[in-house]
Amino acid sequence: MDAAVVCVGDELLAGDTVNTNAAWLGRRLTDRGVDVERATVVPDRVADIAGTVNEHRADHDAVVVTGGLGPTHDDVTMTGVAAAVGRSLEPAEAVRERLAEDGYARSDLAAGTAEIPDGARPLHNIEGIAPGCVVENVYVLPGVPEEMEAMFETVADEFEGQRSHAGVVAVDEPESALLDRLATLRERFDVTVGCYPGDAVRVKVQTPDEAELEAALSWLRDNVEEA
Ligand code: ATP
Ligand code: MG
Repeated sequence: MDAAVVCVGDELLAGDTVNTNAAWLGRRLTDRGVDVERATVVPDRVADIAGTVNEHRADHDAVVVTGGLGPTHDDVTMTGVAAAVGRSLEPAEAVRERLAEDGYARSDLAAGTAEIPDGARPLHNIEGIAPGCVVENVYVLPGVPEEMEAMFETVADEFEGQRSHAGVVAVDEPESALLDRLATLRERFDVTVGCYPGDAVRVKVQTPDEAELEAALSWLRDNVEEA
């Protein structure tokens, strides 16, 4: 299974808010064995949201969208997603009833809040108000990280792929000196290799086969200067 993540928000593009939602979803989906193939940030603009969601939903098994579900003028994500799937926006009655039980009068709900594309499956916002939804292969989640994470967990088991095992070796050699060893590692073992320089060079080795991982890591440790 593969997925694309779309984060909506002018503040993300301007750098006012760090896009922790993309990082959290990337990690969480990868942990479940899903290949995250795209993480795109788009502004609070209906046409951009609709265009990007439409493109990604055709190319990937699932699209996870975050942000812009609230009642303010810049919360236009549901409108964009509805346009992408060619559906109208309808009040999410089940959600309104639950909110009423929680003491929210209907008049308290700003116009546009608790509307989801026609026929979509509503997702309760355990930590907040604005509901999310699932429509076709598009999952729409809130922007507030705590709300987004809690809502994702309610659908997490719908995301499942081949889980892989990974290990990291910290190397005390310049990246350029490692090229021969990295080439041999990739020739000898059926693994994917990532190389991340920093204080030490972190070589990340990954494969669905646990025994292959152990063999590759052990060969690597024997053939580099470990940090
Ligand atoms: P609300 O219903 O509270 O308006 P929302 O679903 O409309 O929530 P936004 O208005 O987009 O979400 O963002 C709400 C808050 O969450 C803002 O403070 C915003 O900076 C933060 N936020 C939104 N998207 C992200 C993200 N991708 N990573 C981290 N924080 C985010
Ligand atoms: Mg908002």
